[in-house]
Amino acid sequence: MICAEPKPVFYATLNRPALARERARRARAMLADCRLCAHDCGVNRLAGETGFCHAGTEPRFFSAQVEVSDEMELIPTFAVALSGCDLCCDFCITGASSWNSRAGFGFDAVAMAARAEAALQNGTRTIMVLGGEPTIHLPSALEFVSRLPATAKLIWKTNAHGSAQARELLDRIFDVWLADFKFGNDACAQRLAKVSDYVRVVQENLLWADAHSELIVRHLLMPGHVECCWRPVAEWLAENLPGVKVNLRVGFWPAWQARRHNELSNPISSVETEYASEIAKECGLNLIE
Ligand code: SF4
Repeated sequence: MICAEPKPVFYATLNRPALARERARRARAMLADCRLCAHDCGVNRLAGETGFCHAGTEPRFFSAQVEVSDEMELIPTFAVALSGCDLCCDFCITGASSWNSRAGFGFDAVAMAARAEAALQNGTRTIMVLGGEPTIHLPSALEFVSRLPATAKLIWKTNAHGSAQARELLDRIFDVWLADFKFGNDACAQRLAKVSDYVRVVQENLLWADAHSELIVRHLLMPGHVECCWRPVAEWLAENLPGVKVNLRVGFWPAWQARRHNELSNPISSVETEYASEIAKECGLNLIE
């Protein structure tokens, strides 16, 4: 196992609230020609048009609570899950809400920030913004951050399918990027999540995130996808992001539309789980829990 060198600086800045406020304004203006994620739709969301994610201008959320099932170093975290996503993974554990941008409750950045601050005062270590996919709601996510204490440790939980434009808006806003690398090849990504050019986009985002923040990469081990998805992900991480923290998730459950795919109709077997661990060892990955 390779131990990553501790990053020497605190990436988010003490003027983060002001920075986030200014970025939120820019992000909202960009909805007129939305290219926040790599789908690059170019629709005018301010005028009511919708792109692949079906999101409007005002997000909704389907969960906001203290959670303890994420990475040990991040919990307990106050996690805010915004409704809607730009990927459509058939096996998504929260598929109905994650894919439906109209699910849940109206998001009020001021009220949510007050809840997050109360959670911090009660001992929560971090605040996490997730979805669905939060990138599609970047203006409101940034407005939320602008209302949070500058010293709070903030986590951006993302599918790593954002655009360069989104990354520029996110620079120095979140302390940790908790990013998925779900598929090891574009064919599986297309078949299971209806997304093209997946691998290149995710790799670009991961390299950027590692250079601009702390980075934890997650991979959900899927039955029948150890060789085609996990192995190439593991090998790429070993070669390009040596020492990066990797959480290999083994709790696959055939949720939502997973049974559309024969190989995803059952939980992952212990044989495949052990094989995946061997690959991680061969690659010298820095696995965390
Ligand atoms: S966030 Fe992505 S999917 Fe949604 S409209 Fe913008 S570019 Fe399209």
